[in-house]
Amino acid sequence: MFFSEIIGQSALKKRLIRSIKDRRISHAQLFFGPEGAGALPLAIAYAQTISCTGDKEADACGKCPSCIKYAKLVHPDLHFLFPVNNTSSKKDDPSCDDFLAEWRDFVLQNPYGRLNDWYLHIDLENKQGLIKEKESDVISKKLSFKSYESDFKIAIIWMAEKMHEVASNKLLKLLEEPPEMTVFLLITENPESLLATIRSRCLPVKVPLIAEEDMKEALQSRHQVNAVQSESIVRLAMGNYARAAELIRENEEDGFLLATFREFMLAGYMNNITSGMKTVEALSSLTREKQKAFLDYSLGLIRENAVIHLQEGRLSYMNRREEEFSANFSRFIRGSNLAPLAEEFNKAAYDIERNGNSKIVLLDLMLKAGKLLRQ
Ligand SMILES: [Zn+2]
Repeated sequence: MFFSEIIGQSALKKRLIRSIKDRRISHAQLFFGPEGAGALPLAIAYAQTISCTGDKEADACGKCPSCIKYAKLVHPDLHFLFPVNNTSSKKDDPSCDDFLAEWRDFVLQNPYGRLNDWYLHIDLENKQGLIKEKESDVISKKLSFKSYESDFKIAIIWMAEKMHEVASNKLLKLLEEPPEMTVFLLITENPESLLATIRSRCLPVKVPLIAEEDMKEALQSRHQVNAVQSESIVRLAMGNYARAAELIRENEEDGFLLATFREFMLAGYMNNITSGMKTVEALSSLTREKQKAFLDYSLGLIRENAVIHLQEGRLSYMNRREEEFSANFSRFIRGSNLAPLAEEFNKAAYDIERNGNSKIVLLDLMLKAGKLLRQ
């Protein structure tokens, strides 16, 4: 991970790079900040730059043997601790090392990922993760050896507040009498839930919320979100990049539902079986939950369109794209066809839930809805 990949945080990045250049690398540092601000990717970029043996004027070089191993998070002097627990595939009191492959995947795909995203990634279901008692012995042993390739051995402890009490106390001992040439980077969203004695041993590194301008720039360059959309996402995300990425995904899903609804109703209205079959086949290839979600969404949109005439100036629950679509579509929804349309969509949802043949149910719905629109 490179500093250049971190969203915003330019003052902090400069300070961290400066400390490496000046060889003032504190042996224990606590990166703390709110969810989605980037404490984990920052700590990894910092670790990579410390270990980099190439030209690291403003960032890690990306070409030296150390950087090449960091690109896959497989550097032998880089160690991770993070919360885990039994899962459906690892039932026997697994440790972090048992999850290393999953952890590397998760971090590389989703460096701003949240604790719940991680739990979902390893299928933890409803259990809580924990940094277990035994992990402190494992890390202590790993760090007692001489480093393999770098000057420093680096241990990154993600969500340090999830450390078992015994693990915390053992870590404290390590921080008090650190093995030679070791750097501990603790990461937390709740510094006050760490042992006060651990906090006082660490150099605090505050990771603030991502500034609005930086977030806007990232959304536009990384997600091709236009200026208008990025305004509202930035406002809702409040400095949390994980939340912003989630909002973009939701927005895309809504966009998909609206586009499908438009095709579905148009084909029905035109009584165009050829193009209608394409939409029906695409919908039928989705899971039953997604087909149901489409029907629920359609029902909601039809109801919104019905009230457009009745209650002008009423608060709209539609997004901008839906409003644009509805300006035209609402003409087709009247008092006389609203109830029959709702009934047909409800009936289709009922049939799909009971494993009816999706293609038949949806094609039938499309033709009936088209007929009702034409009335
Ligand atoms: Zn390098």
